[in-house]
Amino acid sequence: MSYTKESIKHEVSEKNVEFILLEFTDMMGDTKNVELPIDELDMVLNDEAMFDSSSISGFTAIQESDMYLVPDLDTFLVLPATVDEDQSVRFICDIYKPDGTPFEGDPRYILKRAMKEASDMGYTVNVGPEPEFFLFKLDKEGYPVRQMNDHGGYFDASPKDKGDKVRRDIVRTLKKYGFEMEASHHEVAKGQHEINFRFDNMLKAADNIQTFKNVVKDIATNHEYHATFMPKPFSRENGSGMHCHLSLFQDGDSAFYDEKAEDGVSKVMKQFIAGILHHAGGIAAITNPNVNSYKRLVPGYEAPVSIAWSHSNRSCMVRVPTTRGKGTRFEVRNPDPTANPYLTLAVLIQAGLEGIRNELDAGQDETRNLYEVTDDSVPTLPTNLKEAVKALKNDTVLLNALGDHTSRAYIEAKEEEWTRYSLYVSPWEIDQYMNK
Ligand code: GLU
Ligand code: MG
Ligand code: MG
Repeated sequence: MSYTKESIKHEVSEKNVEFILLEFTDMMGDTKNVELPIDELDMVLNDEAMFDSSSISGFTAIQESDMYLVPDLDTFLVLPATVDEDQSVRFICDIYKPDGTPFEGDPRYILKRAMKEASDMGYTVNVGPEPEFFLFKLDKEGYPVRQMNDHGGYFDASPKDKGDKVRRDIVRTLKKYGFEMEASHHEVAKGQHEINFRFDNMLKAADNIQTFKNVVKDIATNHEYHATFMPKPFSRENGSGMHCHLSLFQDGDSAFYDEKAEDGVSKVMKQFIAGILHHAGGIAAITNPNVNSYKRLVPGYEAPVSIAWSHSNRSCMVRVPTTRGKGTRFEVRNPDPTANPYLTLAVLIQAGLEGIRNELDAGQDETRNLYEVTDDSVPTLPTNLKEAVKALKNDTVLLNALGDHTSRAYIEAKEEEWTRYSLYVSPWEIDQYMNK
């Protein structure tokens, strides 16, 4: 939907709107927002909404903290009553500096830069994300306990599946947000669920991921559950991924489809995949952003461990589904839903474009079950956050994709996170070593 200032003012005046929510995403991928009374609509639409950014992760130092929230008019939305009983509207915002230029640490700006690189090469990219999540029970005070909402498994029906009503409510609400909803189902792990929505261009897809996660959490709370996108809540159960399906277009046609190729896949697609595989180590620091992320990337739980591609093998980082024609695409399987979606798509796209520019070779597709390959014949994804951050530090393509400001702030924050984790003595260690 395309909005103008006038059409927004018109819609607001027709409804009994009280509040304006201005949303943006910090470096760690968390949605932030500030609320203004509707009387401030003119000020907001004139790009004059100022905020103090010094306490936002990855933003600015205390001495240069004034920033502006510039609403993206196309993200205007009257919030459905299931999410917000008061009449409020929301905008997703870009962050601008007082001199009127975009703030280079704004994740949305970093993604827009990647989109511009793609369009300078004549390409547009569509992304279909698949975030999975768990529903947990709440205690009497309303805090989550480590007990999943049901004992269902893959595609189980009610009453084993106790998430069906929650998922339906999420689907209904997201439709009111303008999402085109697809299938939803119980996932493999107990208490784990998946709801799919339609692909979109990169920016819209990243905005949608953020909206999706917030709506899932809100609706779960309405049903007295806690929704978590944590990658691996239980060591012996599947974790939650956020697979990203990518397709590339040039002049309206798929740049990934080649009807003359034996497998129907173009050279450009293989080069794009090669770029992603080539930069996989550093990409993981963004797509698998925390200590827990790496507990998901282990053999046996449908999450990838190997830096390889294949046509149908789910143990590879990249898989090419069988659809051809306009739907020709590949699925990147390592991202998890705690990743910042703007930074995730920015690094995936920049690495892929680099693969095209340098005509990189993706090699042969992998047909073995890589969970069972124990020699060193296939490179593996980083096994922890420290390795991933080290790979990122040495990858100039990815550092450029993130820009100086965010590269520096992100690496510093993640190194600090790793140090805090490595100092922690866990119950497992006490259990294993107390009797030594
Ligand atoms: N939950 C699995 C993961 O961690 C993916 C399952 C699927 O293929 O949908 O990535
Ligand atoms: Mg799934
Ligand atoms: Mg998938």
